[in-house]
Amino acid sequence: MNHRDRTIPLLVLGAIGTIFFICASALFVYDTTEHLVASRDWRDHSQEVLTVLQTASQRLDRIDLYERLYLLGKDQDDQRDAQTSTISLDGDLIHVDDLVKDNPDQTSRAQTLHSCILDLKQRVNNSLTPDASLHQKILDCRDAVSKMQGSERTLLTQRTTESQKSIYRSLLAGIGFLVASLAVVIVLFGFLIRDAKQRRQMERRVFSTNAQLEVTVLTLKKRAAEAALLISAREELQLCTNAAQAHAAVVRYCSQLLPSTNVSLLLVNNSRNIVEIASSSPGETRLMDVFSLDACCGLRSGRLRWRKPGESEVNCGHFRGTPPDNYLCIPLSAQGDTLGILYIECPTSLIGIDVERNKESLEELAEMAAMSIAGLNLRERLEHQSIRDGLTDLFNRHFMEISLDREVRRAARNHAELSVLMLDVDHFKLFNDSFGHEAGDSALRGVADIFRQSVRAEDIICRYGGEEFVIILPETDQHAALERAEAIREQVSRMSIRFRGEALGQFTISIGLATYPKSGETLEELLRAADRALYAAKHGGRNQVVVAHPEVATV
Ligand code: GH3
Ligand code: MG
Ligand code: MG
Repeated sequence: MNHRDRTIPLLVLGAIGTIFFICASALFVYDTTEHLVASRDWRDHSQEVLTVLQTASQRLDRIDLYERLYLLGKDQDDQRDAQTSTISLDGDLIHVDDLVKDNPDQTSRAQTLHSCILDLKQRVNNSLTPDASLHQKILDCRDAVSKMQGSERTLLTQRTTESQKSIYRSLLAGIGFLVASLAVVIVLFGFLIRDAKQRRQMERRVFSTNAQLEVTVLTLKKRAAEAALLISAREELQLCTNAAQAHAAVVRYCSQLLPSTNVSLLLVNNSRNIVEIASSSPGETRLMDVFSLDACCGLRSGRLRWRKPGESEVNCGHFRGTPPDNYLCIPLSAQGDTLGILYIECPTSLIGIDVERNKESLEELAEMAAMSIAGLNLRERLEHQSIRDGLTDLFNRHFMEISLDREVRRAARNHAELSVLMLDVDHFKLFNDSFGHEAGDSALRGVADIFRQSVRAEDIICRYGGEEFVIILPETDQHAALERAEAIREQVSRMSIRFRGEALGQFTISIGLATYPKSGETLEELLRAADRALYAAKHGGRNQVVVAHPEVATV
């Protein structure tokens, strides 16, 4: 049984005990009071007896006095006064008899006194002249009165002491009752106060438990929302097909996770010498668009880094003007590569506290972002490698064939023309033999650069193999293509080739030109026509453009 369960039976027992105690105390007080009243009555009774005896004694004195006066002056009035006093004395004695009838000793003394007084009364009434016997009688009577007074005084003393004791007893009983009542009341109040305290503590505990529960529910809801957000971010990042999509998604999800902050994604460039903003949330930011890698403390330390007042006050060096007070730089790295920084700017310290609470989710998101960006970078690199030539960075032969096939179909659909240039460096073997293979590679890269500068963005330049190239010119007729081919040939022939600071002279190229549909209607026909035209150009003395003719293509 716990404390709370015991309280009610204890209170009931306490109440019953209190009632019994009050009844017993009341009986005791009643008895004590009665005793007190009785003892007072007895004391008053003795006092009354003494008063009457005192009066009797005075009357005896008066009788004695009148008798003496009568003896001296023979005045009848004195004789009468003595007789009157004797009569009064008799009356007093009747009263005394009545008062002491409960006390046998005093009753017998009162009878002695009475007979003495009666004798005295007779003598006073009968004697014409007072004599010695009368006086002796008065003395006897006075003696009897004195005895009674002595006895009554003893009684009075006893009764006064008894009365005093009763008063003390009554007082002590009252005080005892009061103290006991107070003790009972204090004990009962103690129970009630303890109960009230326990109840209040219980209420406080329930209140605090409820509050904790509410906080837990809110935290769980927030965690669930964060988890859902992170799942959604992971799914979207997996769906991204290019880096730009992924960059925007990272910033968007970061802003959703931490509303009221400014978020920027900054990436290290390919040369790994600068950091650039790849994507930013809307709003003002004091970040520089481009800065060196060592400007960011987070990037330098390779760890998440908070900058906030009172904790870590060193500022990064990637700001325009005054740096903000609260910001966070999370380095993004994957597969051992540092990719960039996720930068979170908190406009106020309160928002900073909120960000601190979401640090784990933020780190998870940063990790996801790094993995996704690294994956997309790798994919882009692989895609690039699969369609590009490693030496010149032009498209490779495989990509050229796919592209030409597609362009031929499009031209057929649109009833448009399409030209193909096949280009070959003249006497390149000789060049290689003269200056070395590396110089030859460098020359090929230079030729590729001239090709890039000489055509439109939609034109497709490919390395066909060795020192042979193909340029596809969509929606270009023979005339325009010829002009373009001549311009290219011209530029290459003017190109001065330098390798390791040494001038290696010049070389030329020969170009064969085929146009859809004139020179051929399929990929193979067009390439064959262009090849034959190139062959003709070689035979024609090199450094020239030859246009393929239908009859040439079909040979
Ligand atoms: P022509 O005017 O008849 O085309 O003569 P040519 O010497 O250019 O033609 P040929 O086919 O006889 O020789 C091609 C040379 O191109 C042979 C080879 O050494 C060189 N070559 C092919 N691919 C590369 C390459 O990737 N790098 C370098 N440096 N040379 C290459
Ligand atoms: Mg050649
Ligand atoms: Mg060749």
